[in-house]
Amino acid sequence: MQDDPGFDTRAIRAGSRRTEFNEHSEALFLTSSFVFDNAAQAAARFSGDEEGFVYTRASNPTVRMFEERLASLEGAEDALATASGMSAILSLVMTVMSAGDHMVAARSLFGATVQMFSNILPRFGIQVSFVDIADQQAWADAVRPNTKLLYVESPSNPLTEIADIGALAALAKQHGLLLAVDNCFCSPALMQPIKLGADVVIHSATKYLDGQGRVLGGAIVGSREFIHEKALPLARTMGPALSPFNAWVLFKGMETLGVRVRAQSESALKLAQWLQDHPKVERVLYPGLTSHPQHQLAMRQQRMGGPIVSFRVEGSDDASRRAAAWAVIDACQVMSVTANLGDVRTTITHPASTTHGRLTPEARAAAGIDQGLLRVAVGLECVEDLMVDLARGL
Ligand SMILES: *Cc1c(COP(=O)(O)O)cnc(C)c1O
Repeated sequence: MQDDPGFDTRAIRAGSRRTEFNEHSEALFLTSSFVFDNAAQAAARFSGDEEGFVYTRASNPTVRMFEERLASLEGAEDALATASGMSAILSLVMTVMSAGDHMVAARSLFGATVQMFSNILPRFGIQVSFVDIADQQAWADAVRPNTKLLYVESPSNPLTEIADIGALAALAKQHGLLLAVDNCFCSPALMQPIKLGADVVIHSATKYLDGQGRVLGGAIVGSREFIHEKALPLARTMGPALSPFNAWVLFKGMETLGVRVRAQSESALKLAQWLQDHPKVERVLYPGLTSHPQHQLAMRQQRMGGPIVSFRVEGSDDASRRAAAWAVIDACQVMSVTANLGDVRTTITHPASTTHGRLTPEARAAAGIDQGLLRVAVGLECVEDLMVDLARGL
């Protein structure tokens, strides 16, 4: 490859390995372990004196291809694959935090992430403070002597709020903390948080890296030192490993990541503009619109507005807002009614009753998820058909 290949070239070529058979499409190594020539080699592989694969819980050639390709796309040194996005977040937390430590997270996060941070981590003696993602002073005020980690999604799910990654990176640096960014909504096709100053990137590979809604997967991306010396030793023991089969599907999915996400973002902008002009729509939340309060920050950090559009339908109270939102969903004939996103098929979700349904009403309100909110993850269908689909229920 050339010295500095472009994004789409790396998406198709980076991380590729060939076996002795010279296959063109990369092989799937569906094996749980690897054999050694003799007892001495087994001992050397286990001790780490000799490089090589031992057992798929620790590493596997197909999984390694996925990790190397993703690291290349994120402009990072290395990556560690995990079985799901949530297991990537858990592995990050277990790598960085111990009982008695504290972390600061944005208030507006994926529902299961909120659940983990607010209800599960405290059982293990880890305290989490939640702050308004855009309130820089609140982030600074929340840092304590035992703080270890700052955690954001940008754009956030589902409100599309933007974190000022450069400013948070400066705060992290000042206090010797790590800044982790869940890059699910943009994918590396639109934003590379490590280039903006983040230390670690989290992925739910389930979403845009796969792109066709087939498998679960996740990853932690960061420096060679962080991945190799800190995250991998823990993961090798704890076992959040990605299946080689899923790694192979994700590795192939990344080949089309750039074209997919750019086309989806173009359609998302058209759909957001159309929704903004619709009389039944109260508010459109899309970073690519100039009406988004953080539009300029978003456009400095990301190449495009992204593939996800959220919007609020009108209603006089919670019940009528929910009825209006559900009516939009129930009238859809093209969009899939499902909680997943990142698919070539457009999906529509009512966060208050699904992804964020298990939160208490107070936690939901704090996260800004009201009953009139709908989230559309724009796929690759003709955008005109998506407009017709939404118009029916609106
Ligand atoms: C889906 C999602 C996750 C969790 O990923 P899984 O692969 O479903 O475990 C984490 N963060 C964000 C922003 C997500 O959308």
